[in-house]
Amino acid sequence: MEKREKDMEDEKERVCKRCKKPFIASLNDSNSCRFHPSFFVCRRHDDQKRYYELGPDDPPYAAKFYDCCGAEDPNAPGCSTNTHVSYDD
Ligand SMILES: [Zn+2]
Ligand SMILES: [Zn+2]
Repeated sequence: MEKREKDMEDEKERVCKRCKKPFIASLNDSNSCRFHPSFFVCRRHDDQKRYYELGPDDPPYAAKFYDCCGAEDPNAPGCSTNTHVSYDD
Protein backbone atom coordinates (compact mmCIF):
# COMPACT_ATOMS: atom_id res chain seq x y z
CA MET A 1 0.00 0.00 0.00
CA GLU A 2 1.33 3.39 -0.96
CA LYS A 3 1.85 6.09 1.59
CA ARG A 4 -0.10 9.26 1.21
CA GLU A 5 1.92 12.33 0.32
CA LYS A 6 1.14 13.94 3.67
CA ASP A 7 2.79 11.05 5.51
CA MET A 8 5.88 11.31 3.35
CA GLU A 9 6.13 15.00 4.23
CA ASP A 10 5.88 14.23 7.91
CA GLU A 11 8.80 11.84 7.77
CA LYS A 12 11.07 14.17 5.84
CA GLU A 13 13.90 15.56 7.92
CA ARG A 14 13.75 19.32 8.37
CA VAL A 15 16.00 21.78 10.12
CA CYS A 16 14.57 23.82 12.94
CA LYS A 17 14.68 27.58 12.34
CA ARG A 18 15.15 28.18 16.06
CA CYS A 19 17.64 25.60 17.34
CA LYS A 20 19.12 24.61 13.94
CA LYS A 21 18.73 20.94 14.76
CA PRO A 22 17.28 18.42 12.32
CA PHE A 23 13.91 16.98 13.24
CA ILE A 24 11.16 14.76 11.85
CA ALA A 25 7.82 16.56 11.69
CA SER A 26 5.87 13.51 12.84
CA LEU A 27 7.96 13.36 16.03
CA ASN A 28 7.74 17.08 16.74
CA ASP A 29 6.03 17.77 20.05
CA SER A 30 6.01 20.58 22.58
CA ASN A 31 9.18 19.28 24.27
CA SER A 32 11.21 18.71 21.12
CA CYS A 33 12.85 22.09 20.77
CA ARG A 34 14.97 23.44 23.59
CA PHE A 35 15.95 27.07 23.26
CA HIS A 36 16.44 30.40 24.98
CA PRO A 37 13.51 32.73 24.31
CA SER A 38 15.75 35.75 24.79
CA PHE A 39 19.16 36.87 23.57
CA PHE A 40 22.65 36.31 24.80
CA VAL A 41 23.62 39.72 26.08
CA CYS A 42 26.73 41.34 27.45
CA ARG A 43 25.98 43.50 30.46
CA ARG A 44 25.34 43.10 34.13
CA HIS A 45 22.47 41.02 35.40
CA ASP A 46 19.16 42.83 35.84
CA ASP A 47 18.93 42.05 39.51
CA GLN A 48 22.06 44.18 40.07
CA LYS A 49 23.17 41.59 42.59
CA ARG A 50 25.67 40.04 40.29
CA TYR A 51 27.98 42.48 38.67
CA TYR A 52 30.83 41.14 36.67
CA GLU A 53 34.09 42.78 35.95
CA LEU A 54 36.22 40.60 33.78
CA GLY A 55 39.47 39.70 35.45
CA PRO A 56 42.51 38.43 33.59
CA ASP A 57 41.66 34.83 34.55
CA ASP A 58 37.94 35.01 33.85
CA PRO A 59 36.46 33.18 30.89
CA PRO A 60 35.29 35.58 28.16
CA TYR A 61 31.62 34.84 28.87
CA ALA A 62 31.80 35.83 32.55
CA ALA A 63 30.04 39.14 31.93
CA LYS A 64 27.65 37.71 29.34
CA PHE A 65 24.47 35.77 29.86
CA TYR A 66 21.11 34.85 28.46
CA ASP A 67 18.58 37.57 29.19
CA CYS A 68 15.86 34.99 29.80
CA CYS A 69 17.41 32.76 32.45
CA GLY A 70 20.79 34.24 33.33
CA ALA A 71 22.78 31.26 32.03
CA GLU A 72 26.32 32.46 31.45
CA ASP A 73 27.46 29.76 29.06
CA PRO A 74 26.52 30.46 25.42
CA ASN A 75 26.17 26.69 25.01
CA ALA A 76 23.90 26.26 28.03
CA PRO A 77 20.89 24.11 27.23
CA GLY A 78 17.76 26.13 26.50
CA CYS A 79 15.52 27.10 29.40
CA SER A 80 12.29 26.74 27.41
CA THR A 81 10.86 23.99 25.24
CA ASN A 82 8.35 24.07 22.42
CA THR A 83 7.77 22.44 19.06
CA HIS A 84 10.49 22.84 16.44
CA VAL A 85 9.85 25.55 13.86
CA SER A 86 10.23 24.55 10.24
CA TYR A 87 11.32 26.96 7.51
CA ASP A 88 8.28 25.83 5.53
CA ASP A 89 5.73 27.06 8.07
ZN1 LIG B 1 17.39 31.00 28.74
ZN1 LIG C 1 14.16 23.40 17.37
